[in-house]
Amino acid sequence: MSTPSKISPTTLAKLAKLGIHHRADLLLHLPLRYEDETHLTPIADAQPGMTVQVQGVITHSEVMFRPRRSLVCRLMEGHEELTLRFLNFYPSQQKQLAVGKQIRAIGEVRMGYFGLEMVHPKCRAADDDTPLQQSLTPIYPTTAGLAQPVLRKLINNALESIPLTDTLPAPLLKKLKLADFGDSLRLLHNPEADVSATELEAHNHAAWRRIKFDELLAQQLSMRVHHRERSKRIAPALPPHQKFTTALLKKLPFKLTGAQQKVWQEIAHDLSQAHPMQRLLLGDVGSGKTIVAALAALQAIENGYQVAFMAPTEILAEQHYLKLSEWLVPLGITPVWLSGSLKKKEKTAAAERIATGDTLLAIGTHALFQASVEFNKLGLVIVDEQHKFGVQQRLELRNKGKENVGRVSTRQDSVGLKPDLQTTSEPHQLMMSATPIPRTLAMSYYADLDVSVIDELPPGRTPIVTKLVSDARRDEVFERVRAACLAGRQAYWVCPLIEESDAMEVELQNAIETHQQLTEALPELNVGLAHGRLPPAEKAAVMAAFKAGELHLLVATTVIEVGVDVPNASLMVIDHAERMGLAQLHQLRGRVGRGAAESMCVLLFMQPLSELARERLKVIYENTDGFVIAQQDLQLRGPGELLGARQSGVAMLRFADLTEDEDLLEQARLSADELLRDAPEVARAHLHRWMANKHDFLQV
Ligand code: ADP
Ligand code: MG
Repeated sequence: MSTPSKISPTTLAKLAKLGIHHRADLLLHLPLRYEDETHLTPIADAQPGMTVQVQGVITHSEVMFRPRRSLVCRLMEGHEELTLRFLNFYPSQQKQLAVGKQIRAIGEVRMGYFGLEMVHPKCRAADDDTPLQQSLTPIYPTTAGLAQPVLRKLINNALESIPLTDTLPAPLLKKLKLADFGDSLRLLHNPEADVSATELEAHNHAAWRRIKFDELLAQQLSMRVHHRERSKRIAPALPPHQKFTTALLKKLPFKLTGAQQKVWQEIAHDLSQAHPMQRLLLGDVGSGKTIVAALAALQAIENGYQVAFMAPTEILAEQHYLKLSEWLVPLGITPVWLSGSLKKKEKTAAAERIATGDTLLAIGTHALFQASVEFNKLGLVIVDEQHKFGVQQRLELRNKGKENVGRVSTRQDSVGLKPDLQTTSEPHQLMMSATPIPRTLAMSYYADLDVSVIDELPPGRTPIVTKLVSDARRDEVFERVRAACLAGRQAYWVCPLIEESDAMEVELQNAIETHQQLTEALPELNVGLAHGRLPPAEKAAVMAAFKAGELHLLVATTVIEVGVDVPNASLMVIDHAERMGLAQLHQLRGRVGRGAAESMCVLLFMQPLSELARERLKVIYENTDGFVIAQQDLQLRGPGELLGARQSGVAMLRFADLTEDEDLLEQARLSADELLRDAPEVARAHLHRWMANKHDFLQV
C-alpha cells in the first residue's frame, strides 16, 4: 500500500463535514450522479431538458446588466448557436470565454429568451484534438469550498492505494449473483462510457446492488454480534414451575390462540435462561398481548422475582392494573399501582412496598422508573407500546434492576466491540408493540432484539366495516350513532388531532365543542368526554362508566389511541380522519371489532383532500391487516418518519433502501447466519471493512 498523500488541514475539515474521516471512507463516498463528457453532441441535436456536452467557437461575449449583471456568450458550431449565461463569474472566466476561443461546454439545455441556452455550464478550452473522457464524470456530494476535482482526485488515490480484495468468498458471490467488490467500486466511481447513467443514478446497477448487499450484510452481522454479546450478560434464570401460570390458564374464559401459545413458549424459554431476554412482542391491535404479558409476569413471580409492568399513558397502565388484578388477585398476588398522579403519600407507600419486596408486581407509568423507586429483586420488566418510549428510557430501565454479581470475563471482542466488563445481573425485558412494523424494518431496526409475532386474532371477531364519509354528511353519521346506541351498542367519537403549537388547547377546545354538539344532537344518549387534560381520577371515572355501559357514546381525543378495551363498543367515528397518520387510524379502528357484534368505523373527512391524505384514506379503507398497512405506510413516508426520528436506527443505512431492497435484506440476513456459522473469519473480515476499518486516519 502506498503512503497516503498529504491533505491540507482545511480540506480535512471539509472532508470531516462530509463524514469522511478515514481513507477507507473515501472509497464509500459514492457519486450522486454523473456527467457524460465521453462524447460531443452537435448543437443542432441539443434539445431543451437534455444535459449535453457541446463544442464550438465563442462569437460574442458581453456583460449585460439587465435583468441583472451577467456574462452572456454565444457559442457557434457551424451554423448552429447556443447562448451561455453566467450570473456569477470571475474575470478569469471572462477571459476564457473571449471571442474567438474554442471551448467545450457541458450543462442542461433550456429554452431562453434568445433561443437555446445553458446557464452556468461547465466550460473548458478545447480544440479538435482534445481527447474526450473515457468514463462518465462522477459528481459527488460535497460541501462549500471542496471542488469536485479535488474530491475526485482524493477518491481516485484511495481507489489505487487501498487494496480492494473481496471480503466474500467466490461461491457466495456466485450463488447470490453478486458482482466483485473492487470492480463494483471502480465502476461506480469511474463508469465506462457505455454504462447507463440512469441505472447508476437509480441505484439499480449490479455494482450498486453489491454495495448495498455489503452494507446490509455488515448491519446484519454487527447485530448478530451484539446479540451474542448479550449472551455474555447475566440475568436471573427464571424457569417455569407451572404453578401460577397453569392456574391462570385454567381460569381464563378463553383458550390461547395458536399464535399466543407459540409466543408464550418463546418467552417462557428465554426467561429460563441465565442471560437477559430482550424480546419484542409484536401483535396487531386486539391480538391479545396482555394475557401473554401476564403469563410472563407469573413465571418470574413463581421464581420469587419482582416484575415491573409499564405503559406509556395512565389510562393504559390503569387498564392493565385492573385486568391483571382481576386475573392475579385470585391467585394471591396483589399488584401495586404507581403513577405520577398519585399523592405523595401514596407514592411513598407504593415505593416502600416495591423496595421491601412486599409486592412482586408493580404496574404503572414511567413513574415506576424514577430514581426514588428502588426494586428489591427485579427479574422482569414489561413495557407496553414500547415505541412510545425513547431508546434512553429503555436503557434506564435496564439499569434499574441491575445488581452486582461479581466478576465476569473481560475478553476483548474480535471485531473491536466493547470489552465485556459485565459484573452485574440485569432484568429480562419484554417489550410489546401494536405498531405493526414491516418485516424489513423490524429486521433492521429491532435486530438487536428477538421478535415474537402474534399473527392471528382471537376467534369470534367479526370484521370491521370501514366507511369513508364526507363531513358534509355529518348529520347522517349522527343518525348512525343514535341507531347503534339505541340498539344497545356503544360508540366512540374521536376528535381531530391538531398539530399547531398550542395543540393541546385547540384539541381540548375541539373535544369540548364536539361533545356539546353531540349532546345536543343526541339528547336521548348519555355522552361522556375524555381528554388528556382531565384530572386522572375523572378520566378514570369516565372510562369506567363507558366500560360499564353507563355511557352510550364516548367523545375522546386521541387519549384512547392505545390499548383501550371495551368489547361492547362497535362503532367508531373518527372526525377529520384526513389529518391522521395510517398507524394512528389503524390503532383507533382497532378499538372496535372486539366483541361479537358487527362493527363499523366511519372516517369523516373534510374536503378538499391533499394527495397524501387521499392515499392514506384509500389504504386504510382497503386494508385491515396491520402489517400490510404498515408496509404501505413505509412506502408513503419512508422509514425515518415511520419510526420517528429519535429511534430511526435505519438512518444508519446509507446505500440500501428498505422500501426497495427487501430481497437484498433477506439475502443478507440468511448470509449473515451462514457466515457466522460456517466461515466466521469471512464475517470478521467483512465487519472489519464496514465497521471497524477505522484506524487508517486521513493525514495532514
Ligand atoms: P392487545 O394485543 O391489543 O393488547 P388485548 O390483550 O387487550 O389486545 O386483548 C384484546 C381482547 O381480546 C381482550 O378483551 C382479551 O381478553 C381478549 N383475548 C385475548 N386473547 C384471547 C383469546 N385467545 N380468545 C379470546 N379472547 C381473547
Ligand atoms: Mg394492549
